[in-house]
Amino acid sequence: MSEQQKKNKGQAETTKSGRGANECLICGRKQGLVTRHNIMLCRQCFRENAAKIGFKKMN
Ligand SMILES: [Zn+2]
Repeated sequence: MSEQQKKNKGQAETTKSGRGANECLICGRKQGLVTRHNIMLCRQCFRENAAKIGFKKMN
């Protein structure tokens, strides 16, 4: 069985809360946001919480 066609194309939208789409969930900054892995944290908070969230230091 080889039926691997295009899977769900547009299914990667985080829940927008009205205004201010992108903001750090912790400090609320809009600078250097990390929105790679469905994360909404600025680089600083990301770094500090990366471990908690389960992300390893990726240089
Ligand atoms: Zn932050």
